[in-house]
Amino acid sequence: MATLVYFFQKLLQFFFNPEIMSDEDNFIQFNKGEKMGIWSSRGIVIPAIYDFVGFIYDGTFLVEDKGKHAYFNRLGEIIIPFNDIYDSYGDFAEGLARVRINDKWGFINKTGKEVIAPQFYFAENFCEGMAIVKNHDNLNGAINKQGALIINYKFSYLSAFKNGFAVFGNDKHGLINKLGKVVLPQEYSSIGDVNDNKLIVRIKEGNYYKEGVFTIGGTVDWNNNMDTANEKIRLYNAYKKEARLFIEKLYSDGCPCSYKRFRHYIVWKEPISFEDQELLFVEFIIFLEKLDANTFRCKTCGTIYTQAYKQYSISLWVLNVAIKQNGNYTDNGAAVLNPIPVNLGFKGYKLEKIEGTYFITSTNVVLNYLAEKS
Ligand SMILES: [Zn+2]
Repeated sequence: MATLVYFFQKLLQFFFNPEIMSDEDNFIQFNKGEKMGIWSSRGIVIPAIYDFVGFIYDGTFLVEDKGKHAYFNRLGEIIIPFNDIYDSYGDFAEGLARVRINDKWGFINKTGKEVIAPQFYFAENFCEGMAIVKNHDNLNGAINKQGALIINYKFSYLSAFKNGFAVFGNDKHGLINKLGKVVLPQEYSSIGDVNDNKLIVRIKEGNYYKEGVFTIGGTVDWNNNMDTANEKIRLYNAYKKEARLFIEKLYSDGCPCSYKRFRHYIVWKEPISFEDQELLFVEFIIFLEKLDANTFRCKTCGTIYTQAYKQYSISLWVLNVAIKQNGNYTDNGAAVLNPIPVNLGFKGYKLEKIEGTYFITSTNVVLNYLAEKS
């Protein structure tokens, strides 16, 4: 038996390096049949005889059994006996746990005493001594540990406090301190965490973003960190505009469907530059008659196109376009060559992207290629 214990201790040392793991990380939920318990490197802390045992939070485990709830400490001792006083029970944070009764939320302490009576339409866990609460209008405020509303209900969004500050707002965000005083006006598209009285802010001007570092009580120091992202937005918009004009041009001379190379590209027969192909189709759809969510018809020749997103990997979904029915057009497009210059893509997807440079002029190279007549 001693040998077996030694083996497990070695195994635990391997998995739970004390240098990087806190004591709280050393507790593991385990199952025995339908029941759950808690196990640690020192052995079984809570035997697997309960319906559910949560992770450790603030040194306590929330345990559920036969519809009742109890809290256990890190030694596996019951600190709040099984009861069904409340409709739901939350994990402890900073010494208090959320409880709900008759759709109102309040807080209990670790002796089970109700220290803040259930009165809130919603309450989040305490964080830095403050808990975000909601009123009947779904507006957020914040209370202290005595249950006093320190920050009035007036925010449609209010984050938990972090390093003394919380983010509020909708599309635009601002920052308040723990007294509810606005320290950064509601003007920013995003706001980072406050560290050493400084934080990163972003603002949207038209289509573009600007980033800077704001010092609490001071001003924003703008930088050029968004230049690369803005250049991508600029290329994207320039591309969309070019694609729209191109389709308009083809329609002024019949319809795009009559161009062999256009059809080839739009149905993505070569696995290339799919982002550009997708965006070209998005612009093309504007000119088509919508038959249903995924079926579109060319009003000029009657060609019917279908679209479906196909998953290629966990994060890669590609829009596949197919011609469901050829319309009544006369084929006047030049033959598709291989390799085709479309390999460049409208935004230089393949070659230029790899080289790290974009040349918007390649849009015209591709458009001219697609529109070449036989
Ligand atoms: Zn057509």
